Amino acid sequence: MHQVDVIVLGAGIVGVSTAVHLRKRGLSVALIDRRHPGEEASFGNAGLIARNGFCPISLPRRSADLIDIALKQSTAFHCDYGAMVRLAPWLRHYFRHNGRGGIQHLARMMERLRAQSAREHHVLAARANAERFYRKSGWLQVYRSEATFRADERERHYARIFGIDYRELSGGDLNSVEPGLKSRDLTGVYWPESESVSNPAGVVEALWRYFIQEGGIFLNGDAFALEQRRLGWRIATARKGVAGRQVVVALGTWSAGFAMRFREQFPMAITRGYHGHFRPRSGASLSRPVMDVDHGYTLSPMEGGIRLTTGLEIADRDAIANPIQLERAEKRVRDIFPLGGGVPDAPWMGSRGHMPDSLPVIGASASRPGLWYNFGHGGAGFTLGPLSGRILADMITERDAGFDTAPLSPLRFLT
Ligand SMILES: Cc1cc2nc3c(=O)[nH]c(=O)nc-3n(C[C@H](O)[C@H](O)[C@H](O)COP(=O)(O)OP(=O)(O)OC[C@H]3O[C@@H](n4cnc5c(N)ncnc54)[C@H](O)[C@@H]3O)c2cc1C
Repeated sequence: MHQVDVIVLGAGIVGVSTAVHLRKRGLSVALIDRRHPGEEASFGNAGLIARNGFCPISLPRRSADLIDIALKQSTAFHCDYGAMVRLAPWLRHYFRHNGRGGIQHLARMMERLRAQSAREHHVLAARANAERFYRKSGWLQVYRSEATFRADERERHYARIFGIDYRELSGGDLNSVEPGLKSRDLTGVYWPESESVSNPAGVVEALWRYFIQEGGIFLNGDAFALEQRRLGWRIATARKGVAGRQVVVALGTWSAGFAMRFREQFPMAITRGYHGHFRPRSGASLSRPVMDVDHGYTLSPMEGGIRLTTGLEIADRDAIANPIQLERAEKRVRDIFPLGGGVPDAPWMGSRGHMPDSLPVIGASASRPGLWYNFGHGGAGFTLGPLSGRILADMITERDAGFDTAPLSPLRFLT
């Protein structure tokens, strides 16, 4: 039996970062995952560390988009009708949180988090020898229509308020930033302060190796084997049991289901996304992530080729994969970028967990002493993972996180 200070359940970017920060503070830590670290959402994302992203997850509202979705013709948004109906309680929370006051509150909190995110990545990457994955080349959003460009105005409005640099580009200007784009009919917004990585799973792997090198313990095991004991927590794994005074739930989209064991109910909506890798046609290249806002997909240059990640699919997390959005997006990409053949690997599918107020859940359980949560990062978990890990480690070790973390507290949903 290992005896540790903290057991961390889940070894995605959030769990591994939490484990590293706790270890850096001198605590003994055991990290548990049923798979190798970083093989779920943290593996297949677009690798963007976005400096912007102040507004709630946007739901389709225009009638043309809604009709496309109803007819299952949309590239950006695909839904299984049954899963959509099951989302109704979450939507009620979503509309309650996203009035004018809620959006301002979110924007201010997101600004605080995003302002520190890249720095937190580099603090860990420097120690873990992972700097080679990072690119400080910003990212691009491209728009095919005036309507979608205008629909994103609120994001640019907050960027101006917070002093975040962005540039509106059209035609030739867009081409000078990203020469591979067929930019004639596009408008773009360039966010130069954002960063990206060439291999998100490589980053998690490097952080995990650093954690092990610093004396952390990693074991394969099922989080559901966790038991509460009189003086803490215990979990049996295939190799060894682990006992700890505290436990962190960083199980990504599995966290809300896991919390139900303690009768703590979090409203989390799960969306799925896919990726495939492609080669550019000869002579073409991409230097930064590019999002086609009208069709919801992102192209990101990765070590394994150009990664095409899709928009949102509302479906049960564990239902059979339906990569129709990937097929549609591939056709759409060819209008704006000379994509070559696909790299022969099966389409990847992963899931994101969205809280209705678009903020992650970071903090202590309402009812179980020594139980902590770190999940619900939606489409920004890769960006926020290292910072979330630091914030939770500060909470556990009773250090001041440097700002008011109450808006992240689990209690906002539990009381
Ligand atoms: C298509 C797509 C594109 C994205 N692009 C971006 C992007 O560009 N930038 C960005 O910031 N974010 C992006 N995201 C979001 C980001 O990937 C996630 O928010 C982030 O990876 C979540 O990390 P996590 O550690 O919480 O979860 P995960 O990486 O999913 O890790 C959870 C871990 O828990 C483990 N686990 C689950 N259940 C159990 C159990 N019972 N027992 C033991 N272990 C268990 C899993 O094996 C897994 O390792 C994207 C997501 C998707 C799907």
